[in-house]
Amino acid sequence: MGSEIYFDNNATTRVLPEVFEAMAPFFTELYGNPSSIHRFGSQVAGKISDARAQVAGLIGAADPVEIVFTSCGTEGDNTAIRGMLEARADKRHIVTTQVEHPAILGLCQHLEKKGYRVTWLGVDEEGRLDLDELRDSLSDDTALVSIMAANNETGVIFPIAQIGEIVKTKGIPFHVDAVQAAGKLALDVKDSPIDLLTISGHKFYAPKGIGALYVRRGLTLPPFMIGGHQEKNRRAGTENVAGIVAMGRAAELALGRLQEDATRVKALRDQLEEGILRSCPDARVNGDRENRLPNTANISFRYLEGEAILVLLDQYGICASTGSACTAGSAEPSHVLRAMQVAPEWLQGAVRFSLGRFTTAEEVQDVSEKMPLIVERLQGLSALGKLGSRQRNEGLVQSVSSRMGARG
Ligand code: PLP
Repeated sequence: MGSEIYFDNNATTRVLPEVFEAMAPFFTELYGNPSSIHRFGSQVAGKISDARAQVAGLIGAADPVEIVFTSCGTEGDNTAIRGMLEARADKRHIVTTQVEHPAILGLCQHLEKKGYRVTWLGVDEEGRLDLDELRDSLSDDTALVSIMAANNETGVIFPIAQIGEIVKTKGIPFHVDAVQAAGKLALDVKDSPIDLLTISGHKFYAPKGIGALYVRRGLTLPPFMIGGHQEKNRRAGTENVAGIVAMGRAAELALGRLQEDATRVKALRDQLEEGILRSCPDARVNGDRENRLPNTANISFRYLEGEAILVLLDQYGICASTGSACTAGSAEPSHVLRAMQVAPEWLQGAVRFSLGRFTTAEEVQDVSEKMPLIVERLQGLSALGKLGSRQRNEGLVQSVSSRMGARG
């Protein structure tokens, strides 16, 4: 580790030493293909079974066979949605929300172009769903409902159990993108109305490139990747054995410390928010402050540009994020904050701080102290006052925008 302060754990997390240790032998000594009959193969296949049980444990699946390993959260989301559309080929309607991650958003926009009808459920100014709108949107033509458990930008948690009950009254399959929730919140698919649930290892201290899709037993889900017989014909392709073992170990560790981690990280997050709101009068927290992931703070700084703030934070070695999809030269405001109808003066200046297992009170203190300096500096860039500072900030934004892509 360098001396950076890493407050971007919703984008990705550092692999835990215990996780790295568990996966390492699968690159060197235990390199067999789990489909092979010989000893190298069967030894490795056994380790995949262990990992499947560990992942099932994290999300409360009744049977490890309900876990299908994928390459990432995006693949899990694509498999669930495309698979359900194929299984229910006579249905042409999908229900989702306006605040999903691009893994769902982009796919549903694509499907809309292909002729599917998509209902995009809105949220209120706190980022909460209107359950009556959901109820009204369901019809005999609805192939599936896909709604995230927790928002990656604001951390707002949706009432998945309640949503599922509504969806199930119509007998419609229910998919949950729980990529941000897994490892941070207790999940229990066994006693829930959830049929499909996506998770991704790199959000809870396993490496990038490994994910899992929970498929309720008895549900027919055609495969997305077609080829060999791996994963009981549900996901072809030679398994990422090291990644699977790592994800299993990370799941086990996360489950064992769920409450402890959540309590600790929430106290630090609250401390960070209090510190910033106290020292920066033109700041506010975005999203429902009650029902939120314990590690996430989405804070807007009035009239400023989030990307400019990130550049100055970076100069202090502090890594944070905005929620917006920023492409070279243009910073689009976040679709999540737009759906929440955040006023224009707060929209561009949103910064997401996402804390994690390694966050310390000293780091929180440090960031709380740096933020007012950064805000003053950006406000001072404008001789024309706060409104004019936006234009000046654009120079700073240009300098970094080419370094940034869509983030987790
Ligand atoms: N869904 C949510 C809510 C996410 O936050 C992310 C990643 O940030 C994804 C899906 C995609 O996961 P992956 O990066 O593993 O493809």
